[in-house]
Amino acid sequence: MKLYNTLTRKKENFEPINGATVTLYSCGPTVYNYAHIGNMRTYIFMDLLRRALKFNGYKLKGVMNITDVGHLLSDGDEGEDKLDKAAREQKKSPYEIAEFYTRAFMSDVEKLNIGRPELVVKATDHITDMLGFVVKLCEKGYGYETSDGVYFDISKFPEYGKLSGVDLGGQQAGARVEVNPEKRNAADFALWKKAAPGHIMQWDSPWGKGYPGWHIECSAMSRKYLGVPFDIHTGGVDHIPIHHENEIAQSEALEGGKTVNFWMHGEFMMFGNGKMSKSLGNVYTVPDLEKMGYSPLDFRYFCLNAHYRKKINFTFEGLNAAKTALGNLRAALVAHKNAAAQAGGSESAREKAGGGPDLSGYKKQFADAVNDDLNIPYALGVLWTMVKEPKHPAVYAAALEMDKIFGLSLDVVPAAGPKPEPAAAPAAVIELAEKRKQARMNRDYKASDVLRAEIEAAGFTVTDKLGNEYEIKAKVES
Ligand code: AMP
Ligand code: ZN
Repeated sequence: MKLYNTLTRKKENFEPINGATVTLYSCGPTVYNYAHIGNMRTYIFMDLLRRALKFNGYKLKGVMNITDVGHLLSDGDEGEDKLDKAAREQKKSPYEIAEFYTRAFMSDVEKLNIGRPELVVKATDHITDMLGFVVKLCEKGYGYETSDGVYFDISKFPEYGKLSGVDLGGQQAGARVEVNPEKRNAADFALWKKAAPGHIMQWDSPWGKGYPGWHIECSAMSRKYLGVPFDIHTGGVDHIPIHHENEIAQSEALEGGKTVNFWMHGEFMMFGNGKMSKSLGNVYTVPDLEKMGYSPLDFRYFCLNAHYRKKINFTFEGLNAAKTALGNLRAALVAHKNAAAQAGGSESAREKAGGGPDLSGYKKQFADAVNDDLNIPYALGVLWTMVKEPKHPAVYAAALEMDKIFGLSLDVVPAAGPKPEPAAAPAAVIELAEKRKQARMNRDYKASDVLRAEIEAAGFTVTDKLGNEYEIKAKVES
């Protein structure tokens, strides 16, 4: 099996360290809000990897964390803690917030046929492990205290930046405003933060009351449950330059050597002109799609059409196409299932012997695609080609074997579902439409045309009405 390793920037042969059981750590969600379908793409990638490993006969020990403390508004060390902020705004405790959104996330996981990792662990249950980690880093000379926390000194770890290939010189002289003059190097990051007045979540530490930095949780929990080194660490591409770079620095500084063999990252889901993201407001959730008449597996199929290392643009045209394709695939498979095994007068000798058509070529192509760094789009193509074979239950059986990777519940008999409801425009699209309205009022038709194109790229159409009013509709095919 070949997997792409972000660290070495090439596909490598994968062999588990202990031979039989693969140890896998996946960065989990920050549970201060609903996960959007972009987030879920990353967990579908994790699931495809897990299924592919099982397909190759390995056992799995997978750990996923639930970030319920320490993730600040920026991925660096600036801004409030996301959980603390949500708790204050919603007048609930951070634990209530975390519990509510963890449940919502797990419900999405189940609906999308994402296999639950063997261990799902919360950051707040591991404060002692994290503190122990930070204390040891300080003893080894990697950590230093400032007035607002304890930081990792990246100058002590010369390999800092090896995952992303960041140019630290550039980063230090970069345009980012340096908010903390006490830091020795611009890219030093918080291992522990001292609690500012009003900060809800706080624990005792050698540096007074405080809370852990975001990165330390993954280093401490992967070490605790998987040991070092372990086989594979996954996350989204946004984790490469900060979160995972920092994890490598902390963990390797503590252990004095390599702690993870394979680093794997899922690419972004884009929407309109940018990344789908909570902070941009251009998000849909799995329940949003369900309300519009899509099944979560329509969305899973949509994701399977793109390789995990390629960006994917979310559009309703694309989702509609996925919905239709999944329905057609299931219908074709029902026909294979119900075909009389020995029907027709032209069976080959093999079929007469009761073995069914020879599907070994498809099975091999399928396995090769899966084992070539999870080439799932190609594997789907193999399935579609196989489905065009003369109707035979053996095709159905082979498709269900393949579905152990796809996870599309291909055995479900398609029912005539409700037609998708047109999507409501997200905030970012409404903002574009408002800008366009202003441009039209200023008779700036060039700008208004560009804005229309942007709205269309996001999967919506805008129609002008009397008195500068407009109507936005999702481009849903009838
Ligand atoms: P968060 O809950 O913000 O920590 O994000 C959870 C996961 O979703 C992380 O692995 C991110 O890398 C990933 N992620 C965030 N935005 C997107 C996106 N637009 N497409 C794919 N993955 C994303
Ligand atoms: Zn992490």
